[in-house]
Amino acid sequence: MESRLPSKPIIGILANILTVDGGMFPGQERSYVNHEYVTSILKAEGVPVLLPIISDVEAMARQIDCVDGVLLSGGYDIHPQFYGEEPHPRLESIYPERDAYELDVLRLAHQQGKPILGICRGLQLMNVAFGGTLYQDISHLQTESSIQHNQKSQMHVAGHSIELMEGTRLHQIFKQKWIVTNSFHHQAIKQLAPGFAVSAKAKDGIIEGIEKQGPSFMLGVQWHPEMMVAKHSNMVQLFEYFVQEARVYRSHLNDNT
Ligand code: MN
Repeated sequence: MESRLPSKPIIGILANILTVDGGMFPGQERSYVNHEYVTSILKAEGVPVLLPIISDVEAMARQIDCVDGVLLSGGYDIHPQFYGEEPHPRLESIYPERDAYELDVLRLAHQQGKPILGICRGLQLMNVAFGGTLYQDISHLQTESSIQHNQKSQMHVAGHSIELMEGTRLHQIFKQKWIVTNSFHHQAIKQLAPGFAVSAKAKDGIIEGIEKQGPSFMLGVQWHPEMMVAKHSNMVQLFEYFVQEARVYRSHLNDNT
């Protein structure tokens, strides 16, 4: 059947899980994402759908079949076992079922060439999935040049600056050498995974953006652009670029059928 209007690409946002500690159902687990992920994708002309954590492999494959792009959202620390370490005393909450699900889904989506955007934990997950490691806590790295990566100000406030590396997609998206971002992370990339390039760095050397080399779009950012979109108009460009990649992916699929 032929349709006249090109349909918008579907973006699967990987959901977080929350254990409810009060109210009517204490102990109940709830699948969710912060709503800014949804509104950012909508603003960029994509169609957001939430993909909850599951362990059934066949169902997982069907989840990925249904989407044209995957957004890895923020959340808990990743279990350090996934990069060969024991938990550091300053490691925060972990939820290994989410790690396992997201690592599987990420590899599956990548095998199919689907565009992937990682935010905060999402960047860290990409790095771990392809063989990189993390600092379990960056507060112990403190030096004279340290900057605040877990900001005390409101979520949309642009705190520290980052340098975008020329020749990277991130530089292409923002068209600037320096931008200012919010920052809510106590972990960071230690060893970059093979096949990735650093596309942004803070002034203390902390990696703030990575992208996978090769034809398909896989880009991670350490900050939270979705929390900034409403007040910083430049941040929507990242989502627009990602949604456009998903649109292109979708149109190629249609060409082949
Ligand atoms: Mn930061």
